Amino acid sequence: MVDKKDGCSKSEQRVGLASIMALMITDECINCDVCEPECPNDAIYMGLEIYEINPDKCTECVGHFDAPQCRQVCPVDCIPLNPEFTENQMQLMAKYQLLTAIINPDPTE
Ligand code: SF4
Ligand code: SF4
Repeated sequence: MVDKKDGCSKSEQRVGLASIMALMITDECINCDVCEPECPNDAIYMGLEIYEINPDKCTECVGHFDAPQCRQVCPVDCIPLNPEFTENQMQLMAKYQLLTAIINPDPTE
């Protein structure tokens, strides 16, 4: 069960896992197309059968929003934390800053 307010499941809140991993999409995805345009990092893409998340681009929305936007909109709650990509808040922020620099290498532009 995912709490729509912060996008985290009760078990994740209990063990303190919120905001320390990239996210993943499970095979419960119904390909509704809702999450892809909501991702500020363009981390969500159509895979072979269902949508997938590129962990190199997913910052859990750190740097952009207070909560993962894909989780906020997913109608079937099929976007849990990805246990293969553990990152702390500082690492997620560093990833955000790197992605931002790649997208806009000259901050004066
Ligand atoms: S948590 Fe944010 S950055 Fe990660 S896939 Fe979802 S919308 Fe994109
Ligand atoms: S919002 Fe959920 S069900 Fe819809 S495409 Fe994204 S992951 Fe799949």
